Amino acid sequence: MPVCTNCAYPADHVYTTYKTKSNIRLGVCARCDHFLDPLIEHPDLIILLDLILLKPRVFLHLLFNRGSPPYDADQGKAISADDRTKVRKNRLTQDLWRLGALSIVAETILRLLPTKTKSLTTTWIQAFTVTAIVCLEGFTQHAVTLALALLALKKRGWIPSSCSTARNKELLRDGRQENFVPILIPLTILYTSLLPLLLQLVLSIWYTPPPSIHEHLPFAQSSTSILSNLPFQLPQEYLEIENALNQAWFRSDRVWVGTRLLGGMSAGFGLRVLLPTKPWETTAIVLAGWMGAAVVPHAMNYFKTFV
Ligand SMILES: [Zn+2]
Repeated sequence: MPVCTNCAYPADHVYTTYKTKSNIRLGVCARCDHFLDPLIEHPDLIILLDLILLKPRVFLHLLFNRGSPPYDADQGKAISADDRTKVRKNRLTQDLWRLGALSIVAETILRLLPTKTKSLTTTWIQAFTVTAIVCLEGFTQHAVTLALALLALKKRGWIPSSCSTARNKELLRDGRQENFVPILIPLTILYTSLLPLLLQLVLSIWYTPPPSIHEHLPFAQSSTSILSNLPFQLPQEYLEIENALNQAWFRSDRVWVGTRLLGGMSAGFGLRVLLPTKPWETTAIVLAGWMGAAVVPHAMNYFKTFV
């Protein structure tokens, strides 16, 4: 069942068609009186821009309303709830596979770029190994995130939605809860992480740092230290920690760090639109998923030493 993109109130149909498919009328929300989903009429580019701008309505549109069958005024009958559920399930599964495949391909290309591997040729074995690691990392990240999110929702009494008390109070109904399926969690993460990943891919291909003799010069501490320039004296340990953090930052791939941070923040935001969890819970769930994925290469190295 679709939902209102303004207040998440559940609705039977987002729009009604008359005679021709192009002659449509948008439905109006029974609770907030806004159009249920104006994005139905918008081109894909606007939806993409909304996704980049992280507008809450775009998540509700993509996860609940896109592709939902309209009410056909000519035939005067609605599609049964079972058929609508089937259509939605198929579409969500298709979206998950497509986005998942795109994300795996982008991540694999990114890791196989000559600037990352320091070699100009890539063997099939290398490509296969990297793809396998990317798949395993992605699977672990989604499995950890999904398990923790479901646990948080169960603890909150949000799932299963049949035990919801809000269902009885008409105006308190929450379409997100009534139409929740676990697949929405990995889908939200894929929607939000794919754009930063593609951005990183474009930046990596376009921007290759020129080799320079300055690259291996020791890191100059005095130029960027904030703590040592404060008007009061701080213990030496604080300055050492700042120095270590600065060195780590300067040695790391800043494009990678920046885009990952962007992906993480976007994923947190997307999950907050979908779920009723508190900000700290959502952040912890996203971070745990990341940590799960980060453990995979270490676990594989550890495993290799025993084989
Ligand atoms: Zn509404």
